Amino acid sequence: MRILVVEDDRLLGDGLKAGLLQAGFAVDWLRDGEAAVAALGAERFDAVVLDLGLPRRDGLSVLQWLRARSDATPVLILTARDQMSDKVRGLDLGADDYVLKPFDLDEIAARLRALLRRAHGQASPCLTLNEIVLDPAGRTVMRAGQPVDLTSREFDLLHVLMLNAGRVLSRRALEEKLYSWDDAVGSNALEVHIHHLRKKLGNDTIRTVRGAGYTLSDPAP
Ligand code: CA
Repeated sequence: MRILVVEDDRLLGDGLKAGLLQAGFAVDWLRDGEAAVAALGAERFDAVVLDLGLPRRDGLSVLQWLRARSDATPVLILTARDQMSDKVRGLDLGADDYVLKPFDLDEIAARLRALLRRAHGQASPCLTLNEIVLDPAGRTVMRAGQPVDLTSREFDLLHVLMLNAGRVLSRRALEEKLYSWDDAVGSNALEVHIHHLRKKLGNDTIRTVRGAGYTLSDPAP
């Protein structure tokens, strides 16, 4: 799951990026509102962590711009404790949640997981497909009650596919969700991860839809 962090404070931005990477997100970090608008106009992120006090274009304006183009990407705003009115305005302008500074990284990661769940219409924190159960918070996968040992990338890929069960995701869409700008993506990296997931979870778990992409097999009737 790919997150855009927009924060001009170097220490905070650095901490957010490191913390969210640690929590298993792909993270891109920008330091001003204009850069954020450019990035959001060009690419899809699964969620945005948005500071409100930003150079060049403030966070509320970025949020307004995003919602004006009917982009429903979940947005978590960061606000200072003494600027509660900004928090209210942000929610009214279409933010999905907020966190007060100073914040706790674990809390931000948990709130992002909740936003992603909601954005995909998932009620329960764990995702289930047939015998496979994926826990996004614990980053564990069980198959028929047995733990499955996945690499971080394999886990992320399975997570994306399970969140989008029933949909076909193109290779480009998957890569956009799995890799940040910092990641050098090998030309066949995705196929390799799919291959390993099939080996670990069963060959028929992931279906290739010719010319379209990948999808999880339909749940057993
Ligand atoms: Ca700021």
